[in-house]
Amino acid sequence: MSKQFEFSRRSLVKCGVQVPIISAAAGLLAACGDGEEKVALCADPNSLSFGENSIRQANKYTEATTDPENDCLNCAFFTPEPPDANGEIPNCGHCSIFEGLASKNGYCESWSTKDTGQG
Ligand code: SF4
Repeated sequence: MSKQFEFSRRSLVKCGVQVPIISAAAGLLAACGDGEEKVALCADPNSLSFGENSIRQANKYTEATTDPENDCLNCAFFTPEPPDANGEIPNCGHCSIFEGLASKNGYCESWSTKDTGQG
């Protein structure tokens, strides 16, 4: 393959990854009406590297799961921050798959139950 083709393919992949992430982020913010509290993104695509965005895109990460039974908070790969003074678990915690922040209300295709099936 020529370098020109590789560059073009890389450009397409880059655009293909960035556009859905930016669209998803815009959609998430747009979903918050004017009278509603704005939800801060834990993994703002604009502050992540290309590689960080790529792995999130490959796993179809979203900051707002559509299935409350399967969210980051009950995923085996999620480590939440300790509860605040009000006993609330902060929105952003650590995802060991992404090696970075994820929302406790998020979801991706690498979700795995914390239930080991033992006991
Ligand atoms: S693997 Fe996916 S579902 Fe699990 S904590 Fe990370 S982002 Fe959330």
